Formats: sequence, structure tokens, C-alpha cells
Amino acid sequence: MALETENSEVYAPPSQAESWVYFDGEFKQYKDVHLGLMTHALHYGTGCFEGIRGYWSETQRQMFLVLVEPHFRRLQQSAKIVRIELKYGIQEMTEATLEILRRNRFQEDVYIRPLAFKSSEEIGVRLHNLDDSFAIYTAPFGAYVDVENGIRCMVSSWRRVDDNAAPARAKITGIYINSALAKTEAMDNGFDEAIVLTHDGHVSEGSAENIFVVREDTLITPPESDNILEGVTRKVLMKLAREDLGLPVVERSLDRSELYVADEVFLCGTGAQVSPVIDIDRRIIGDGVVGPVTKALQDLYFDICKGRVEEKLDWLTPVY
Ligand code: PMP
Repeated sequence: MALETENSEVYAPPSQAESWVYFDGEFKQYKDVHLGLMTHALHYGTGCFEGIRGYWSETQRQMFLVLVEPHFRRLQQSAKIVRIELKYGIQEMTEATLEILRRNRFQEDVYIRPLAFKSSEEIGVRLHNLDDSFAIYTAPFGAYVDVENGIRCMVSSWRRVDDNAAPARAKITGIYINSALAKTEAMDNGFDEAIVLTHDGHVSEGSAENIFVVREDTLITPPESDNILEGVTRKVLMKLAREDLGLPVVERSLDRSELYVADEVFLCGTGAQVSPVIDIDRRIIGDGVVGPVTKALQDLYFDICKGRVEEKLDWLTPVY
């Protein structure tokens, strides 16, 4: 849809088919990339990916990509775990991302999806002796979950995958069946999001978000060894809470019932941003409204992502 912008230039983002993508070293239009039915990753989940956000600032007429380097570093780690050869370094992947965004000329918030996968078209479950491909796709993207009014969650009946079964530390495509089962169960039951427990019954994370609880002004979040994805947002929020808000942050295993008695709970992630939780398993969290610690962190996070905090501009990569 074409929109008249302030300086009366008409903004018309490309359609998905016309949009530019990066695929195995070349810039192509989405409609010109074709993958075969037998693509290994489609059958066996043998891929790994990232999700990066770009925020459009209308006042600065600029797009800021958030924490690009840590995302590509995590992609390298995921690829190492599933033995996918990434042919490009962080710099090349970043430059390719910037180039496709410039070609797509987006002037709104976007999502960036780098994907590395086993692309051989053959049968046989394994990781070795297969070709690897790498792609980057971008698309306009608004809020993933409600970040203003708070969301309602259920503790899922599905358990989080264990490191010794399928390592959650790696952002592996196949592992997302675990998240998809939990998310759909939650939505089918009238909730907005799922919270998933580890096999020993401790809180792990949301279907696509890390989790924090606030108890007596201390933030508590499950440790990396509780089968969480090592979230980029989780890591920066811990730092902001400690250094900018002066609040203690503890990484420790969390019991399910601690969720119910917490003063505040929020989920976080590139997609979810800082997402307040106001109800879990039909127990109202705190006062049932967005709590002060969550709100302070959320405001700070958005201000930084939108380029409004001078001292934190190192989080951002400008596109234009
Ligand atoms: N956990 C899971 C399972 C996720 O999919 C995500 C989203 N990438 C997160 C946590 C949050 O990670 P990040 O802050 O790096 O986006």
C-alpha cells in the first residue's frame, strides 16, 4: 500500500515477490529463488536461523538495526553445533543485510531473517556430506505480541527440549516444533503465549522469548543451563537493569509456582521486545497491570532501539 509521508514522497514498499533477498552470495528477488521439494532442511529441520529487528525512525528518516553483531555471532554458534558451514563472516553477512534493505527501501519497522540450511536434495538423516546454503530475507514487521497492555500466559503441557536431545542453545529450525506445539496449545486454550518448563520442572522460557520475574525489586531469570535460547535481548536487559536501573539481577532456576507469586513477569526477545505478562494459569500477576520495573526497562529498551539514547548508539547499525 502506498502511503503519503510527511515530505509528500510516496512510500511504497516492494511486494514480497519483488523484494530483494540474499541467496548463496547473490542478490535476487524473492520470486527468483526456488528450492526443491527434496531440500534436506525441509524434511529434517537441518537449518539454523536468526531474527534481527530494524526500527524505522520517522524523525531521523533512518532505519536502525539492533544488535546485529551478537545475532550473527549466535548464528555462527548455531551453525557450528549443527555442522553447517557458514561461508560468510559477520561483516559480509551484515553488508548483505544492509544492501537488501537499501534495495527494498523500507521506511517502517522490519524483521530480518538470516537462514543457513542443509540444501542437498536427497534422502537420509544426517549432518555430514551435505551442501549448505545461506539466505537473508527481510519483511515489514510490527509487534509480535501485545507490548502495551500485557499478555496472558499458560504453563505448557509440552516440556522444553533438553540439551542432550536437541540443544536449545542453538537456534535450529527443527527445534521450533517444540515452540510451535506450545504456542498453538496456548492459543487454543485462549491464552496469548506459552511458558515452557524443563524436564525437571523448572521454568525455561516462552515459545519464542526469554522470561524474567521480578520479586522485591530483584530480577530473576533462568540460567543458560535450563535449556533456554541464549537470548540477545535477555543479555542486554540484564545489563540495563543492573547498570542503568541499579537493580540486582540473579540467574537461577525458577519454580513454576514462583511465577504465580511474582510482583512482575515479562517476556523478552527480538520479536516480543519487552512484553509484560499480567496473568499466568489464571492467576493475576502483581496488580494485573504493567509493573514499574517492566515499564522502566521497556521504555529504556525502546528509546535505545529507536536511536534516542546517545550513549547506547553502539547497539545500532544505521541502514541509510
Ligand atoms: N527463546 C526463543 C526460543 C526464541 O525463539 C527467541 C527469539 N529469538 C528468544 C528466546 C529471544 O532471543 P533474542 O532476544 O535473541 O531474540
